[in-house]
Amino acid sequence: MVAFGVHALVWTGALDRAALAHAVDRTRAAGYDVLEIPLLDPFAFDLAAAREVLERHPLRVTASLGLSAATDISGEGPAARDAGERLLLAAVDVIAELGGAHLVGVIYGALAKHARAATVTGRAGGIGVLRRVADHAHGRGVTLGLEIVNRYETNVVNTARQGLAYLDEIDRPNVVLHLDTYHMNIEEPDMMTPVLEAGPRLGYVHIGESHRGYLGSGTVDFGAFYRALAAIGYDGHVVFESFSSAVVDPVLSNALAVWRNLWNDSDDLARHALATMRAGMRAVESVQMH
Ligand code: MN
Repeated sequence: MVAFGVHALVWTGALDRAALAHAVDRTRAAGYDVLEIPLLDPFAFDLAAAREVLERHPLRVTASLGLSAATDISGEGPAARDAGERLLLAAVDVIAELGGAHLVGVIYGALAKHARAATVTGRAGGIGVLRRVADHAHGRGVTLGLEIVNRYETNVVNTARQGLAYLDEIDRPNVVLHLDTYHMNIEEPDMMTPVLEAGPRLGYVHIGESHRGYLGSGTVDFGAFYRALAAIGYDGHVVFESFSSAVVDPVLSNALAVWRNLWNDSDDLARHALATMRAGMRAVESVQMH
């Protein structure tokens, strides 16, 4: 069974105790199974507060992040590579301590518009880091999801096919492909082929509209995407992601170029998204019988 989740930035741009309690409460009230927590700075994350909130209101959690220039493991600088490795190891520990099993996102390089492609040595350095982080994560029961994002947000890989080749190079069983419909809509030839090519190596899914607002108000061909998920029997997490200038994280919102307001009512947005995703997946459940 697919587990439906929602990104915390639908509810709040902060991660203090009150913000986490609000996000957990609203996620549960909207009917989701999973809350994805942005863990851009795992060292600043209040683990004790998060534990307490989740003890009071149990909810499955995952963590996502994008590295920065200072922690770019696929860049040229050894200092950033080392800092990135420390950050990823810390993020694995945080999500493991919260009982989560997934650390996903742009965890293989800086989430930013780059002036040039990653170099051979930068890429190789990043792969070395990811192998060590994956081995640590394996011991803690955590899977790493490499989110394939568009050319303006990474210079390492931009398509599912590139991502699968990258996974082959990393060669660790607990590193999987993470696809996001918003990015696929920019870079992929269509919404089915990447899913069918990934098959069992697809381990995490983000659902986002072409402008990252209300599902159904943009140009993403969700029907084709859901059909492909059904065809491979995908039963992992399906997490709704949406960003508006109504709810802002000072770092993440800028990295994602969230400059305008696409919604104001988080509850309505989240409920609508869950109903839409459920209906879309329900409609194609039977394709394996055809
Ligand atoms: Mn995403």
